Amino acid sequence: MQSRNKEKVRENNQWEERFVNDVSHELRTPLTIIRGYIEILERYGAQDAELFQEAVTSIKNSAANMQNLVESLLFLARAEAGNQALNKVRVDLDDLLRRLVAEYGNERVQIAKLEACKIMADTEFYKKMLWAFLDNAVSYSAPDTAVKVELRATMGEATLKVIDKGIGIAKEDLPKIFERFYRTDKSRTNLGRGASSVGLGLSVAKWIADQHEIKIEVKSKIGTGSEFKLIIPTLKPK
Ligand code: ADP
Repeated sequence: MQSRNKEKVRENNQWEERFVNDVSHELRTPLTIIRGYIEILERYGAQDAELFQEAVTSIKNSAANMQNLVESLLFLARAEAGNQALNKVRVDLDDLLRRLVAEYGNERVQIAKLEACKIMADTEFYKKMLWAFLDNAVSYSAPDTAVKVELRATMGEATLKVIDKGIGIAKEDLPKIFERFYRTDKSRTNLGRGASSVGLGLSVAKWIADQHEIKIEVKSKIGTGSEFKLIIPTLKPK
């Protein structure tokens, strides 16, 4: 028993150490960029309008990345501490989805099927979760391809699929993509979020999915694309 406890403590320590390393690394990169550009601005900024613009854009992007990172970390910390209260109400999922998809524009996200269904959900959390899947599908696929969204409803259950024709995820990465800070090597090259990718979006989405008793299944193939399937409990129509 004691050795099992010791093992647990050791695992926790290792996890904490990795976590602090990951966070420090993720914060160091944008900070280095910001400091670098500030130095350039101090030296040459006033004379060179193009350089000035480049520096301001990079500083803005790096600050936005840091803000995203810190907000996701705070979200997960509150969730873990049990301080993330949900306010669930009756929601028309089809309506919510239609509104979210409209924000992306028809070239990037298209609705292939949208059946009416009602769920109990915290709307703000739910939107955050759906954005995570939609943003990923859009980010990890070419700009000239459209992500397909399907919502099918049967008695007591709805299935929501987000399908992209993007870079895909390797079989060995699939079990790890919901882990904190996990990013596939592919996501760092060619298509993807580049510097703004921190690998926390799916951890946040998974926590929200769990709070709504949603099951997630992922199918993916490198070079062909990915399908994220959410199996969602629904309410009986009134
Ligand atoms: P990130 O901010 O890096 O996108 P996420 O937690 O949202 O973090 O995703 C974790 C990793 O899973 C990504 O870095 C990427 O490697 C992979 N991933 C997630 N969704 C997709 C997708 N639709 N297509 C390809 N890879 C994906």
